[in-house]
Amino acid sequence: MTLNVLFAALYERFEQYQTPLKEGFEKHGLDVNLATELAPETVDYIIYAPNSSVKDFTPYTKCKAVLNLWAGVESVVFNETLTQPLTRMVDDGLTQGMVEWVTGHTLRHHLGMDTHIHGQDGVWRSYVPPLAKDRVVTLLGLGALGSACAAALVQLGFVVRGWSKSQKHINGVTTFSGPHDLKQALAGAHIVILLLPNTPETENTLNATTLAYMAQGSYVINPGRGTLINDEDLLNSLDSGQIAHATLDVFRVEPLPVEHPFWHHPNVTVVPHKASETRVDTASQVIVENIVRCENGQSLKHRVDRAAGY
Ligand code: NDP
Repeated sequence: MTLNVLFAALYERFEQYQTPLKEGFEKHGLDVNLATELAPETVDYIIYAPNSSVKDFTPYTKCKAVLNLWAGVESVVFNETLTQPLTRMVDDGLTQGMVEWVTGHTLRHHLGMDTHIHGQDGVWRSYVPPLAKDRVVTLLGLGALGSACAAALVQLGFVVRGWSKSQKHINGVTTFSGPHDLKQALAGAHIVILLLPNTPETENTLNATTLAYMAQGSYVINPGRGTLINDEDLLNSLDSGQIAHATLDVFRVEPLPVEHPFWHHPNVTVVPHKASETRVDTASQVIVENIVRCENGQSLKHRVDRAAGY
């Protein structure tokens, strides 16, 4: 039996994905018709990116699952026409990229690298940074990405805390959960990294009140989503010196409008949503594996909880 798999994403993505996907299907003995256009009522699976033209899932009457190519699902999870199971991307390449980005930016602030990078002015500065063991790093979000970053930061010797919705146990990490624990997770933290999803519950997790829990002169690193931070409160905290620097990869509006104060603030680093990317080789394997599982009657991996929104 031939499976019809619709690739609903930008065409340039199809050009990257079609060969590794076809090879993966062949390896598992699946006969698949992979295409960017198919009659909706014939489609068995949709490989999906929220920037595709498919917005109404109603005509896909026999579709067994929608497999998202992105880790973030906020722009599809509340689509009422989507009645099929939805999975999100958990990909080793994406995770490794995020671990590298997060540890790099953490070390930048920890070591005070800017002092020397921007200080080539003939002044022989003698700043000695504390060791990682004296630096508290808090990860907000301990999912696929947050937990991998936490483990890497533990390896580097940081005092690592993590906060999530449900209680987690990660070697070397002091873990907290639920709204009542947020204050403890942030109290006195020197560096806070946001890897939460964009849901109604996580909006403005960092605001005037919670930013004030962090240590004076601390750092915010946000590769999660722009909605996690109240922009105005962050700018006020930067101006007062409560927050020394914010490294921001994600924003409420992307691309970040040229007039936004983040672009012009001396203590903000704007990164154009490039912390980490889904990698074609590893992501293709994840998609193929999930289709194989579904065909064999096994549960889908990385299934999104539609009520929770992630
Ligand atoms: P996961 O779904 O695996 O993890 C999400 C984490 O957030 C979980 O630990 C979850 O808790 C926690 N969480 C969710 N809601 C709450 C809440 N209300 N209170 C406390 N904790 C909460 O996601 P990933 O780790 O794969 O990805 C995280 C986010 O990173 C994505 O949603 C996306 O927005 C962003 N991202 C950014 C990229 C970039 O390039 N900038 C690339 C890829 C992803 P629990 O474990 O209890 O469920």
